Amino acid sequence: MSAISEAAVLEALKTVKDPAKGQDIVSLGMVSGLIVKDGNVGFAIEVDPRQGAAMEPLRKAAEKVVHDLPGVTSVTAVLTAERAPQAGAAKTGAAQAAGQAGAAKGPGGTMIPGIRSIVAVASGKGGVGKSTVTTNLALALARLGLKVGVLDADIYGPSQPRMLGIAGRPTSPDGKRLNPMENYGLKCMSMGFLVAEDTPMIWRGPMVQSALQQMLRDVEWGELDILVVDMPPGTGDAQLTMAQQVPLTGAVIVSTPQDIALLDARKGLNMFRKVDVPVLGIVENMSVFVCPNCGHESHIFSHGGARREAERLGMEFLGELPLDIEIRETSDSGRPVTVSRPDSPNAQAFGAIAARVWEKVSQQIGAGGARQAPKIVMQ
Ligand code: ADP
Repeated sequence: MSAISEAAVLEALKTVKDPAKGQDIVSLGMVSGLIVKDGNVGFAIEVDPRQGAAMEPLRKAAEKVVHDLPGVTSVTAVLTAERAPQAGAAKTGAAQAAGQAGAAKGPGGTMIPGIRSIVAVASGKGGVGKSTVTTNLALALARLGLKVGVLDADIYGPSQPRMLGIAGRPTSPDGKRLNPMENYGLKCMSMGFLVAEDTPMIWRGPMVQSALQQMLRDVEWGELDILVVDMPPGTGDAQLTMAQQVPLTGAVIVSTPQDIALLDARKGLNMFRKVDVPVLGIVENMSVFVCPNCGHESHIFSHGGARREAERLGMEFLGELPLDIEIRETSDSGRPVTVSRPDSPNAQAFGAIAARVWEKVSQQIGAGGARQAPKIVMQ
């Protein structure tokens, strides 16, 4: 089979017209990030974010004309919602991320050089304290003397910049890779640094994946003992795909007592089992309410359920954290309790969880060496 050239792909794409503008998408400069590798072709089509859904037939048409070319085995075309945020600066953001989506046979799930382990923090739904646990767990791991990074994969609602008290944009050493942001001795990368909070983004499945891959692989993480990943909340296909895309050493599930009652924790467990990622254990957040005035502990939700449920499901119970205003205020103001009040019982609770997580991670990487991401195919 003859190899397909970029020129041939562009020729074919010239037959696809933007219905609104009447001209072809190549002449309009809408095609970017073209990658041709063996018979696999990928490219992005830059569209106005307001037109996203209306441009879907155009995307399909573009895929079809390329697919019809001899020698083409797969085509991935993605719509990108915005161009790279700053010309001259690192070409980051959705546009370039999407441009890489076509590298179907790219590095996939290979481990990242320099990163010894990657742990996902996940939850059955939003608002249970997943990001709070990620931040404090990462900080507590750093207090153990480990080199720690935080990857904020919650691209729909990135919280790590706020929780770690980091503002500004990452710099780039060479216009291609990004330097992570840093605070409290942690390295961090988040969509929150790359896209303005109020920028409307169309996150199509492939874009989500390529944005994640870029934040994972195109960042100068350096040497890390552990990279903690703040996953998007929930256990749907998007989360499953992400869990599959990142070479995870293990996962920590965060739940409130209600989720445990509603079996959301079980969904998380099943999700990671599907992609063959070991669940290191479950953290019960907001387990008891501690009165800020008198310190009295109220068991608003039934207590002890998480431990029992974890045992029943064969998951380790890693520990519990109270519903305590100190945790909320310190996280939301960018001074997490683990660093701002390291001797407090809350910080110590995070410290104990971190110690156990690292123990389990060490066993994993000691036993199996660096894991490869499992290769399952999602439809
Ligand atoms: P998620 O990442 O699951 O959506 P967050 O970590 O953003 O949840 O937490 C949601 C809110 O609850 C935040 O304002 C956070 O400060 C607060 N919060 C999380 N855990 C606790 C806790 N144990 N006690 C008090 N507030 C908490």
